[in-house]
Amino acid sequence: MVTFLKPMENLGTKTIEQVAEGILSTLKSRFKILAYHSVGNASHDTYEVSTDNFEKQMRFLVKNDYSVIPLEDAYRNMLNQKIHERTIVITFDDGIAKLKKFAFPILKDLNFPATIFLPVKYIGGIDIFSYEKPKADRVLLNWTSIEKSIDDGISYGSHTMSHPNLVILDKHTLDYELNESRMILKERLGLRFHALAYPFGMFDNRVKTAARQSGYDCALCFGNVISNTKDTDPFEMKREGIINTISLRDFARLVDIRNDFSRGAKELMRGALKRKH
Ligand SMILES: [Zn+2]
Repeated sequence: MVTFLKPMENLGTKTIEQVAEGILSTLKSRFKILAYHSVGNASHDTYEVSTDNFEKQMRFLVKNDYSVIPLEDAYRNMLNQKIHERTIVITFDDGIAKLKKFAFPILKDLNFPATIFLPVKYIGGIDIFSYEKPKADRVLLNWTSIEKSIDDGISYGSHTMSHPNLVILDKHTLDYELNESRMILKERLGLRFHALAYPFGMFDNRVKTAARQSGYDCALCFGNVISNTKDTDPFEMKREGIINTISLRDFARLVDIRNDFSRGAKELMRGALKRKH
């Protein structure tokens, strides 16, 4: 919340018009990144959004004039300070194979790009990193599916080699997880834009520095203030995780930047009251 409010903290010296103008420009210059995991019909899995709901969410974006753009474009707009209104980026973590059957056709139909973050060591294998017990139905995309999907607007980024909590790794292992996965994806898929999603969203300053030094352009985490602005640290791009219990109404609220503001405004009021008393 603090980051969100910084430009407006000094309310006392501003006119209402100036504050309103500030609010308007704040709302226009933010974009959101959504973080999914799987799409399919395993209703018991929190991280698997049903195919039906996923399609409804994507169609909601179309109906409500949101532009879904590639992560790389959003990143470049951010650097060039040209963020467009109602912009959404779609990402998936872990590279679950089911996406090919359940998510890719919907994305292709709507011409929506998306970025998938791959734990490179497990490509074509099974997810043995997200849960305490490996899940047989969590098969991961193989190289053939990955390579074919690129023509349909799917892009890829690193989710490291083995999906560890990077914060607790020694320097050597940290660098290996970051460098090796980046280099394999670069060589195999010809990537020129290098994005990283921190496993479990876990990072600290040491991890951020290592990611930058490894040659990544940006890195994605999760955040309470869930939209990104021109001032967002490219190694701390925030995402909103989407889980299978979200209703379409909540999804609509979540993608609407104005709700970030109302949440921020509440914090601002609280702060102002605290200063007065
Ligand atoms: Zn993950």
